[in-house]
Amino acid sequence: MINETLDQTWNLETIFEGGSHSKDFASFLKKLNEDLDNFQSTLTETNAPKTNGETTIWKDIIHKYEALYKRLIEGYAFLECLTSQNMKDDKASQLFAAIQATAAQFEACSTLLESKYNEFPSDVWDAFLSDPDMQTISFYLKESRQKAKERLSADQEKIISSLAIDGYHGWGTLYDTIVSNISIPFDHPVDGKKDLSVGQLANLMDDSNRDIRKAAFAAWEEAWHSQVDFCSASLNHLAGFRLQTYKERGWEKVLKEPLSYNRMTDKTLETMWQVITDNKSHFVKYLDRKAKLLGLEKLSWFDVDAPIATSSKKVTYEESANFIIQHFHKFNPNMAKFAEHAIKNRWIEAEDRNGKRPGGFCTSFPLSEESRIFMTFSGTASNISTLAHELGHAYHQSVMNDLPYLTQHYAMNVAETASTFAEMIVSDAAQAAAKTKEEQISFLDEKLGRSIAFFMNIHARFLFETRFYEERKQGIVGSDRLNELMLAAQKEAYCDALSSYHPAFWQSKLHFYITDVPFYNFPYTFGYLFSTGIYVKALEEGATFADKYDALLRDTGRMTVEELAKKHLKVDLTKPDFWQSAVDYAIKDVKDFLELTKN
Ligand SMILES: [Zn+2]
Repeated sequence: MINETLDQTWNLETIFEGGSHSKDFASFLKKLNEDLDNFQSTLTETNAPKTNGETTIWKDIIHKYEALYKRLIEGYAFLECLTSQNMKDDKASQLFAAIQATAAQFEACSTLLESKYNEFPSDVWDAFLSDPDMQTISFYLKESRQKAKERLSADQEKIISSLAIDGYHGWGTLYDTIVSNISIPFDHPVDGKKDLSVGQLANLMDDSNRDIRKAAFAAWEEAWHSQVDFCSASLNHLAGFRLQTYKERGWEKVLKEPLSYNRMTDKTLETMWQVITDNKSHFVKYLDRKAKLLGLEKLSWFDVDAPIATSSKKVTYEESANFIIQHFHKFNPNMAKFAEHAIKNRWIEAEDRNGKRPGGFCTSFPLSEESRIFMTFSGTASNISTLAHELGHAYHQSVMNDLPYLTQHYAMNVAETASTFAEMIVSDAAQAAAKTKEEQISFLDEKLGRSIAFFMNIHARFLFETRFYEERKQGIVGSDRLNELMLAAQKEAYCDALSSYHPAFWQSKLHFYITDVPFYNFPYTFGYLFSTGIYVKALEEGATFADKYDALLRDTGRMTVEELAKKHLKVDLTKPDFWQSAVDYAIKDVKDFLELTKN
């Protein structure tokens, strides 16, 4: 319980003193770059061992690599914090660009290291893995060697990476340029004529006034239509580069890369989508009821996220902090203790002021073994959820701190496990505490909105993207065909429940243009359902679940998701049961919603 008034700014001084002009940081970065140069030379010059007797130097190389990795992330996280707290901090931006170059160099070292692992003779490799010192990081070692096995030679991969800068990532950057240059003339029914950016117009599409939503959506589709040739070229070429790279590596399936990256099998992915598909009729009922509540026959694309009831209740930062701590405690006292520590020690930048970057994130400092959370707290219910969400991320990191750093890296599909779990605890508690029917409906509507996003919207993205990549193998896919593919995917994913769709979604959704991570869609749905399934277990088991939960989180960076679920939840992710239990939890929301809104 916190009784004092809280400082809403974070403390970065304990990490490096003096902000972007920190002398400590300047020398830290200089030393990091020097050490990385030396490491790169050693790594390049050292040949893979031919006998067991030659592996000692490799243990040393791996330990050095791990230590450099921690230092890089420590610096990176510090600059991420500085550039976010004040977007006008030029010195911080400059340093950020510098550390990005360091990160690229480190990345090159990682790839080289992986290819060296691949050069170990099999028997030497096996003996190396069973060395007690290496056993703790054996998952990382095996995964890295496997990565190298599935790629081309180190030299060929190096050429691909260097050509990718302009030939691949460049197309993603071009997309960003297209978007940032879009200016949309909009005749606002209340505010009059204005030129709006993509982001400004997107906000209007969730307006409570349907006329505004409708007009905004029409302007939105038109704006994207005017850019259709550029978007189509950008998407086709980045997909072409990706497919050609896969072909050269001998990868037949488009999903090979995202599945390996997320450490999951295609059987698990198939089962997950199948369970969702089999249960969609429940969510269609929610969409139909929502349409009725809005006085419509069917919802249009732009009505899905429209608010049906608004809760304008404001809360203070202190009230929110205490609410979170109190409810975390019921599930896991360690989580509550951790949250209190983070809040009291100013790990959170929550102040509502100008010049901050929008959005929220949690970043961790591997050397300091602390995290920092960034958000803007203005007292709304969704701010409490965000705070709980980011504290969940920080907690996840805290339970892994004593593990070797090379076993702390979890993939995107489990990255949201702890955060979603924390958010669910708090949003369920808030819903239970809601006093009026209006408030309850508003909570459920928001929650179900998330289910629709994960089960239908993201499903449409997945269907579109897999089909598009298949067609792209035969050549350029024209913009009319892209629209057609998107429309078909949306109709299928939403079970024809809407009266109109958004065919230009392949243009307006940034995720299709992200080159660093392919198929930036199904991991979201996986993460949400995985976390929901764990939450359902926690509700069933009560207090004894806390230790199991912590143990599961600790293993997220050193197992496949199937192994993780089997070991800690005793479930088989390739079978429908676990997924069904998670979807059932969301179906309960539909039932409650239908009950509360019937008449
Ligand atoms: Zn998150």
